[in-house]
Amino acid sequence: MDNCIFCKLASGEIPTTKVYEDELCIASLDINPAAPGHTLIIPKAHHQDLTDNMDETLLGHLFSVAAIIGRRGKERLNADGFNVIQNNGTAAGQSVMHFHVHVIPRYENDGIFEFWKPTSPDAKELAVVAEKLS
Ligand code: AMP
Ligand code: ZN
Repeated sequence: MDNCIFCKLASGEIPTTKVYEDELCIASLDINPAAPGHTLIIPKAHHQDLTDNMDETLLGHLFSVAAIIGRRGKERLNADGFNVIQNNGTAAGQSVMHFHVHVIPRYENDGIFEFWKPTSPDAKELAVVAEKLS
């Protein structure tokens, strides 16, 4: 993909703060981190999002690397935990259209963000949605 910023980061065409690399992916610090150590796991192959022909081996590998980076955040940055976030589509907050996984170190009461406001659908409403998704 000629104009894809993450293809360029992954191939080394554009410099980035790399913290990990192997044959399938790089892990690089986010330029606008939610917290120190906020890292992006970026496959070297271009896939727009999770639905774009990603094979199981690659997906499993990317999440294994996310675990490595998450563990490093706990061991080396003293994080208490970490979020693994993966956005698909602009409605879901995806701004770079090359699949990537965010790993964000978290600390007790860090107040970085709140994910969603829980709702309370009744059993019938859940059943209607479940039928569509099944
Ligand atoms: P998303 O909103 O899930 O698509 O996330 C894209 C992320 O990429 C954002 O958190 C940006 O801060 C980050 N980002 C964009 N350009 C770069 C870059 N050149 N190097 C590192 N991170 C970047
Ligand atoms: Zn790309």
